[in-house]
Amino acid sequence: MTLLLLRHTPDPDRLVALAARRCYSSRAADDIEEHLTQEEIERLLGFLRQRNHLSPFEHADFTFSADGISRALSHQLVRHRIASYSQESQRYVNYMKTPALPYIRPPSLASHPEAQKIFDDAVHHTLEAYRAMVNAGVAPEDARYIFPNAIETKLVFTLNARSLFNFFEQRCCIKAQWEIRQLAFDMLKAVRQVAPLIFKNAGAPCQFAEKPYCRENDEKCPQYKSLQKRTNKNDQQIPGGIEKKS
Ligand SMILES: Cc1cc2nc3c(=O)[nH]c(=O)nc-3n(C[C@H](O)[C@H](O)[C@H](O)COP(=O)(O)OP(=O)(O)OC[C@H]3O[C@@H](n4cnc5c(N)ncnc54)[C@H](O)[C@@H]3O)c2cc1C
Repeated sequence: MTLLLLRHTPDPDRLVALAARRCYSSRAADDIEEHLTQEEIERLLGFLRQRNHLSPFEHADFTFSADGISRALSHQLVRHRIASYSQESQRYVNYMKTPALPYIRPPSLASHPEAQKIFDDAVHHTLEAYRAMVNAGVAPEDARYIFPNAIETKLVFTLNARSLFNFFEQRCCIKAQWEIRQLAFDMLKAVRQVAPLIFKNAGAPCQFAEKPYCRENDEKCPQYKSLQKRTNKNDQQIPGGIEKKS
């Protein structure tokens, strides 16, 4: 998997803080911006997250490119509706000449050599079937129906910071499927480099510094016990489940 952050709104931390200040000040925007210190930006962004006042985060956009991911992943990704997507079309890729079908094999198969062979053979047979159908006169756009979820795809996609919070909460969770989880962590790492304050407290909610909670309320999750310990210590009632018993 190759994940790139292609573009982003310039100075995202500052822009979101400016938009937030706009809500609480009657001063002109340029005057507000001139007086925005780094401390003020940090304080404002923390305040917004704490109050769940999330609309100012919608002003910051982040455009990514993902290559070498499966259609199984991309199908999950595009379920996130507050986003824009451009995906490589299977209608226009020429699978008649590629030496092999590009596909993603789950790493778990590495410890099952027999299963790995079954997997690889099955994928290979779909390409043979595709080519046989096209040679028999079937349109490539129909022949491609035979391809598996494992087939490789490429996307360019854009989300704003608010939508990314939601994405990271769901997909950085230890229970998320391994491939989209890997993508989510790569994306989080990339946006933290350009917007460290916006994404300071982003990720799976059990890892939040303030008000951690389990979004699945799953007692069997390995993170759950450590979460319980931390939250009981803080004597908090946790949204999403774990209520402290006195
Ligand atoms: C662990 C896990 C398991 C899943 N399993 C399944 C599954 O078995 N089957 C399946 O179909 N999907 C499954 N999903 C996908 C899931 O249902 C969501 O479609 C996906 O995660 C996108 O989340 P979202 O709707 O919050 O994001 P977005 O589409 O980006 O929406 C963001 C937010 O906007 C609001 N919103 C967006 N659209 C609407 C709307 N039409 N009406 C009201 N509010 C809206 C909601 O508050 C939403 O949270 C799973 C997701 C996860 C994380």
